[in-house]
Amino acid sequence: MASYKLLLLPGDGIGPEVAAGMQVVLEALKETGLATFETETDLVGGCALDAHGSPLADATLQRAKDADAILLGAVGGPKWAGVAYENRPEAGLLRLRKELDLFANLRPAICYPALAEASALKRELVEGLDIMIVRELTGGVYFGEPKEITVLEDGSKRAVDTQVYTTAEIERIAHVAFDLAGKRSGRVASAEKHNVMKSGVLWKEVVTKVHAEHYADLQLEHILADNCAMQLVRRPKQFDVLVTDNLFGDVLSDIAAMLTGSLGMLPSASLGAVDAGGLRRALYEPVHGSAPDIAGQDKANPIAMIGSLAMCLRYSFGLGDAADALDGAITDALSGGARTADIAGEGTNPIGTRAMAAAVADALRARVG
Ligand code: NAD
Repeated sequence: MASYKLLLLPGDGIGPEVAAGMQVVLEALKETGLATFETETDLVGGCALDAHGSPLADATLQRAKDADAILLGAVGGPKWAGVAYENRPEAGLLRLRKELDLFANLRPAICYPALAEASALKRELVEGLDIMIVRELTGGVYFGEPKEITVLEDGSKRAVDTQVYTTAEIERIAHVAFDLAGKRSGRVASAEKHNVMKSGVLWKEVVTKVHAEHYADLQLEHILADNCAMQLVRRPKQFDVLVTDNLFGDVLSDIAAMLTGSLGMLPSASLGAVDAGGLRRALYEPVHGSAPDIAGQDKANPIAMIGSLAMCLRYSFGLGDAADALDGAITDALSGGARTADIAGEGTNPIGTRAMAAAVADALRARVG
């Protein structure tokens, strides 16, 4: 069996707790013969700032570049609230994404049957929900120049952010979305606002061209981003793969997140281009932050982190069977009644981070053994 090199960056707050939970599952993957990994652990975020004076040391960045994939917990917390902007813990994560050019953010929104009651929507609207949001992560209005606040002659101010996309940026994210759809139901919805934005006009044009030239056997639908937001809460199961830009993706993926019940359930992947060796640079991390309110109390839900490992198996290493087994083990553990506090609901006794990770690892062994 091939052994892959994983860099673990647990980070701050609940990061180390959920990362430890994931390592229990890594052991179970190894025991069951599904996958083996060489792991290295390093610092990122506030803990790196404390140790090295930088939220991402150059040596850590080099290790990240040398690894086959990176699994990150979370960064940040009140301890570092007063540090200089360029040294804040989140800057370490942003630098990592930028240096590795991780342009495609994949955020699945899956509603497990056992958790349908935890959603803000009615059970029948969300039960069986399985959407993949593909968000462009390194372009658009968060990075476009000019980006500034200027003072006008009358003393008032003027703020500018620039929404900018090139053909190449749209093409590469469209390829990611269509490739994913080809392995799922074959349906892609592309969200933009071509009715009022030039970047939306180009987005629609390029996605249409990529579809016609390379993926004509798949189904493509264009949807205005505002309508998309509405449809996500009206009839979310109509979507399979949803591709969109950085800004709309930020908002739409948070809406989709709420359909699934808890932040503690949501994994993500940030993917770069395929390198000369055929490997894609990739960072996998839970969507949630460092949750200082529950850090150090064995209360955090490790499923978002464990789900991120499942995405790593699938998207970095092509280990679809192992990823299916792990996703299935999460479903089994939940169906068996395992609940951390965030998903416990009334009348259920919650278990801790360690016990939840052990429940998933046991369910994995039971599936394979
Ligand atoms: P958060 O995601 O850390 O927490 C929001 C709420 O969700 C909290 O009540 C928390 O207890 C709960 N929660 C989050 N993850 C959970 C889990 N796994 N299990 C159970 N409950 C969970 O967001 P926040 O409070 O806005 O931010 C806290 C810190 O995290 C800040 O410093 C922020 O900058 C940072 N942050 C980091 C990332 C990242 O590392 N990618 C993302 C978001 C926020």
